[in-house]
Amino acid sequence: MARTKGRIERFTISIRKGDTVRVLSGRDAGKSGRVLSVNPRKNTLIVEHANIIKRHTRPNPAKNIKGGIVEKEAAVHASNVQIVCSGCNKPARIGHQTLPSGAKVRACSRCGATLDK
Ligand SMILES: [Zn+2]
Repeated sequence: MARTKGRIERFTISIRKGDTVRVLSGRDAGKSGRVLSVNPRKNTLIVEHANIIKRHTRPNPAKNIKGGIVEKEAAVHASNVQIVCSGCNKPARIGHQTLPSGAKVRACSRCGATLDK
């Protein structure tokens, strides 16, 4: 966790579980996938099919875990992904809008399409 003089540095992630994002850097740059989980404390998220690592696991019969090499997704930092807008189908930064009903929603900074339902 990023700490500065004992203070926890935290910037809010505007990406939610279930969003489609494009990975911008690293081995899987250019890939896009669904967000499987978000870790707001670490500002990281797990993106489907991106940043695959091989984990060598030991068999544990009590937990019904088979040993061997398991491929799984590793966390990606939130600054290395961008949300893919469903309106213009491009990676975009996230802006915010207030609906006439008063609800605050996330919106695409390119075309203004609402990203929340
Ligand atoms: Zn858009």
